[in-house]
Formats: sequence, C-alpha cells, structure tokens
Amino acid sequence: MRYISTRGGIAPIRFKDAVMMGLADDGGLLLPEMIPSFTSAELESWRGLTYPQLAFEIISRYVDDIPADDLRGIIDRSYATFSHPEVTPVVRQDGVFILELFHGTTLAFKDVALQFLGNLFEYILAERRERLTIVGATSGDTGSAAIHGVRGKKGITIFIMHPQGKTSAVQALQMTSVLDDNVHNIAVQGTFDDCQDIVKTLMNDLEFKQRHKLGAVNSINWARVLAQVVYYIYAWLKVAQAGQKVLFSVPTGNFGDIFAGYVAWQMGLPVQQLLLATNENNILTRFINQGDYSVGQVVQTVSPSMDIQVASNFERYLFYLFNRDAARVRTAFAQLKNEGRIVFSPDELAQVRHDFCSASINREQTLATIGSFLKETGYLLDPHTAVGVKAARDLAAGDMLPVCLATAHPAKFGEAVQEATGQPVPLPPAIQRLLGLPTRCALLPADQQQVRTFIEQHVE
Ligand SMILES: *Cc1c(COP(=O)(O)O)cnc(C)c1O
Repeated sequence: MRYISTRGGIAPIRFKDAVMMGLADDGGLLLPEMIPSFTSAELESWRGLTYPQLAFEIISRYVDDIPADDLRGIIDRSYATFSHPEVTPVVRQDGVFILELFHGTTLAFKDVALQFLGNLFEYILAERRERLTIVGATSGDTGSAAIHGVRGKKGITIFIMHPQGKTSAVQALQMTSVLDDNVHNIAVQGTFDDCQDIVKTLMNDLEFKQRHKLGAVNSINWARVLAQVVYYIYAWLKVAQAGQKVLFSVPTGNFGDIFAGYVAWQMGLPVQQLLLATNENNILTRFINQGDYSVGQVVQTVSPSMDIQVASNFERYLFYLFNRDAARVRTAFAQLKNEGRIVFSPDELAQVRHDFCSASINREQTLATIGSFLKETGYLLDPHTAVGVKAARDLAAGDMLPVCLATAHPAKFGEAVQEATGQPVPLPPAIQRLLGLPTRCALLPADQQQVRTFIEQHVE
C-alpha cells in the first residue's frame, strides 16, 4: 500500500514513511492510494474476534512494510494497556448504544490511536536507528494521550502545546504530572487554533522539520485515523445483524474520529449515515446544513476537546468529495486562506448531505442531557458524549440503529458534569493517582518564534 497527499505534491510513499512524515511535505494530508474493501462474508467471519485480533485484520490491509508478527506485537502491546477486557465495549442504554472509548490510560478515545502510534514510532525508530521530535497541539485530550503514548520511549522527545487555562483540571494534570526527561509541556497564551497554527508553521518549515526530525501526533497522522477505523467495525459487530445499517453519532472537533468512520464505511461497513455532532463551535454543522464553510471565532464550551474551528482532517474528506482531485483541494484551501471560506457546488453539497447529517448542541442542552440521561438510565455521560447523544435523539429516526461514541470518561470533565447533576463525579483510580503529584510546564506567548527557540533549547 502506497500513500499519497491530498494536495498531490509528493511521490507515493510506504506506510512507515507515511507514519514518520505526519503532515505531507507539500502541506497536505496523507491518504492510502486506495481504500481496501472487505466483503460482507469477511465481516461476518470477524464476529468472534477479540479487539486486537480485529485490529490486526483491519490494520494489516494498510501496512505491507512491517512483518505480520511484528505488527501483531505492536497491536497487542497497545491494547494491553486498556483497563477493559473488550478494549472498547458497547453498552445499551435506553434505546441507544454507547460505544465506550475511554478505557485507556488518559480516559479519552485518543488513547486508542496514540498507544498504537507510540509503539509504532518506537518500532520504526529502533529499526532505522533514528530519533524523532514530536511537536503537537492539544485542546487537552490529544496531548495527554500522546504524552502517555511516548513517555520514556527511546529516541523520542515530545513537545506538547496546550492553550493555557482552556483545558480541564484533570487534562492539565494528566499532561504536566509526567516528569520523564523526554516530555515537555508548553502552556500557550492563546487558543487551540493558535497552538495548531504554530505546529503547522514549524512543520511547513522543511529545513527545521528535517534538522530536528519533527513528526506529528495530531490526528493529521494517518496511523491515528487507521487505528480508529477498527472500533467502528468492532461496534458494528456487537450491535448489528448481517447487512443491517448503523448510524454513528460522533462528537466532532478536528474531524479525525468521524473521518475514521467514513473510511470504515468506504471499506464496506453497512453504515446508514454519519451524524456529526458539534458544540457551539459549529462550522461543520453550518457547512452540512447550510453549505456555509466560513471560519468564525473559537468559543469556550463545556466540551473543550471540540473547541475547534478549522478541522484539519476535513481536508481528507474533501479529497474524496472532490473525486480525488488534488488541484481542487489546493484551490479550496487557497480560497479558505484568502477569503476565510470555501465555496462548494450543489452536487458536492448533495454528496455531503448523503454522507452526513449534523446538529449543533449548546451548553444548556448538553448539561440537560447529562442530567436527564442519568435520571432515566443511571448512566453518567461526559459532556462530549452528551453532545452526540442529544444529537442522536434529535436526528435519529425510530427505525435507525444509533451508536453514540463515548469519547471521554465523565470524571475527566468533572466540573461540567457536576454542574449538570449537582453531584461530584466519583474519581476513578486513574485520576486519584494523579492528585498532589508534582508538575512541570513552560509558559509561552502564542508566538511561533518563541516556541521554536524553546524547542531548539530543549531537544536532545
Ligand atoms: C478529541 C476529542 C473529540 C473530537 O474528536 P476529533 O477527532 O477531533 O473530531 C471529542 N471528544 C473528546 C473527548 C475528545 O478528546
């Protein structure tokens, strides 16, 4: 399998090189040259598989430059760190299915991808006798999952920027309490989009990128999307009969998670539609419902991991929407840069509405959903998951089979959940362990030059 760029500017590369490149050298995002498909008979034959076994079946179709046993080892090590034997179990609550993606070390779905990516990096670096400097931006969950994915790993130094004061207390603690020498936290005085812009600027500086062997852990890394494809298929196998279609409701920020669902669908998974659920940062909902893709200001919400305006993985979907026309992708992003918006044709918008439906759920609705869901079912939702559950209740027709992705454990966003229920959230052991630990973190303005200097001073 070879990988190409959405902007058409690189020669096809193999999987390991795609993992190490992160953002494509032409500024685009990497995608497999073709999406491998499976038949319904193959899908049925996977019903009895464990999560790691299924992960191998899916992931190995995209990887032809790692021996099968080594790939199995990487997958097994990644999912052994999860506290639930099923890794991503599905529970049924009041007519909706909840796909619990929060049983990893940092209690959010990003562990599913970042444990895999951390082990993949370690494997490739050891083989090539190389080193890697990871530079990433986080609205909270990516950073903690990435840090836990690579802490103490040989050959890797990680720099994670988060917007100062805009993550939850637990998220900040999960990052800054990691004192391993190879881990550097930077609190940036700005928004998540500022942090992401700084990463993009550094990554687009090819001289800097090559000198420090920069790599990405943001969902721009293809390996992350790939790891996430697995749980859509795993969930389908748990809830659907042969041929039955499922509606996946996905609380969305950077579009990485829902894009993995799109890939699973293109591979052959029976999907009805993808429900893209947003908070008040609803550029993607406006796009799907009104055809208006224009960037606004980021507002702070009770689901901070979705406080994003420019969703980087959206470019991957646009590549398919534009029938794989890289020139059209380049024009669209030039337009976005110059005019702050992308204009779509009626045919393109019709395709978008075939693939997605969408709802934007505000703060009151989110908190009310957490409260009412707890009363009706005894099940506690985190604010991100509540956005998806509320959207599914509003949009899923009676004959549909909705699966809501539970992207975080409620204790990770305890402040908001307590506001919704009036009760403190019981802390799981993974959080209790952190309280009172010493922390380390640098504070910098939202200025790429100062971040660049900090990295140069601290890279090993
Ligand atoms: C990252 C995150 C999201 C958004 O996922 P994207 O892949 O960025 O769309 C939703 N919920 C939680 C808890 C997250 O950490």
